[in-house]
Amino acid sequence: MQGKPRIAIVGAGLGGTAAAALMARAGFNVRLYEQAPAFSRLGAGIHLGPNVMKIMRRIGIEDALNASGSHPDFWYSRHWQTGEELAKIPLGDYALSHYGASYLTVHRGDFHALMTAALPAGVLTFNKKLASVDDRGADVLLTFEDGTSEVADIVIGADGVNSRLREHLLGAEPPKYTGFVGHRAVFPTPLDSGTLPFDMCVKWWSDDRHMMVYYVTEKRDEIYYVTGVPEAQWDMTKSWVPSSQEAMREAFAGWHPTVQALIEATPEVSKWPLLERDPLPLWSRGRIVLLGDACHPMKPHMAQGAAMAIEDAAMLTRVFEEVGMTDHAQAFAVYEQNRTVRASRVQRVSHDNTWLRTNENPDWCFGYDVFEVPLLDAAAKTPAAV
Ligand SMILES: Cc1cc2nc3c(=O)[nH]c(=O)nc-3n(C[C@H](O)[C@H](O)[C@H](O)COP(=O)(O)OP(=O)(O)OC[C@H]3O[C@@H](n4cnc5c(N)ncnc54)[C@H](O)[C@@H]3O)c2cc1C
Repeated sequence: MQGKPRIAIVGAGLGGTAAAALMARAGFNVRLYEQAPAFSRLGAGIHLGPNVMKIMRRIGIEDALNASGSHPDFWYSRHWQTGEELAKIPLGDYALSHYGASYLTVHRGDFHALMTAALPAGVLTFNKKLASVDDRGADVLLTFEDGTSEVADIVIGADGVNSRLREHLLGAEPPKYTGFVGHRAVFPTPLDSGTLPFDMCVKWWSDDRHMMVYYVTEKRDEIYYVTGVPEAQWDMTKSWVPSSQEAMREAFAGWHPTVQALIEATPEVSKWPLLERDPLPLWSRGRIVLLGDACHPMKPHMAQGAAMAIEDAAMLTRVFEEVGMTDHAQAFAVYEQNRTVRASRVQRVSHDNTWLRTNENPDWCFGYDVFEVPLLDAAAKTPAAV
């Protein structure tokens, strides 16, 4: 690795870990720094569309993911009270033949563990909370809270919605609370499903709230739900709080018996604020560049927030390979040019919470292949096709 530019990634969430795995495989000299002392199996699920699975193929964990996750045949949207079908979007075999990769729902912790295991030894260091950053022109000095420091040529801020590196580039500004919370619960699949069998992947909709439900294991023995529920206030000093069955019963009073059956089977549920930022005026400056929630946090209502972070990671790797990084300003401009339109569109649709409520065509989202989409140069007038 001697003589190769040193790339430091701050934050080993889904975006940072994907970037480190892809860059290591491409032969770059990369290090990943994470503030947490270790990762646990956080109680959450995640959708992995074909757009993400093609990136997992490149990382080398597509088969392991396919063996771990659930493969829904359809995404259903249903009426909150009657259970009437509002939309039925084909996934399963259709995703494989039409998009060229699976559509999966998995446990977020299992997914993260597989990606972390794909990193070469020595790339990831835990217990490294970035305290300050100094872009010295010729290189960047990173100082961590434990008093240690590292020098890098390129720094990637993958440090999430409260990004320290975004703050360094643009000043301190908390993300915006959207006025909505998401309840999250993962638990053993209950036997009693009310009057309908559990769909493998379903979003229950009323006018002001929803509940998304799916399995997170191939065996379908664990089920997950995540909600979007209006709540006027959030204490921004807390990243989540415990919730309760009682609060869920109240929030979903009168909903379909299948939703009630899920609530009655819930052993533990947490509540998360849904946060956003307006599109940033810049994604990079000097030797520092941002990806994922650090630059475009969004409501999770398209189930594509992590997907955008992972696509960013793949596009940045592709740009380093195809454009090089000697002129880092040029490389960062090409990266931003090729990501900003798509990330902003996903951010907007997520904000509006309209995705797949009716039978729309999801090709623009699921059919995107970050490795095949034509690469626009930094000055291209036409924005990148989504
Ligand atoms: C309720 C809810 C449900 C969601 N469901 C989905 C879904 O189904 N599908 C989907 O694609 N997305 C979903 N999302 C969105 C998704 O979680 C995020 O978009 C995604 O995690 C962003 O990835 P990231 O790597 O940019 O940031 P993060 O995953 O937040 O990772 C940031 C990392 O940086 C570390 N870090 C932070 N500060 C520092 C520092 N100073 N020094 C060192 N390390 C630091 C953090 O510890 C963390 O590990 C959901 C979000 C919520 C809130």
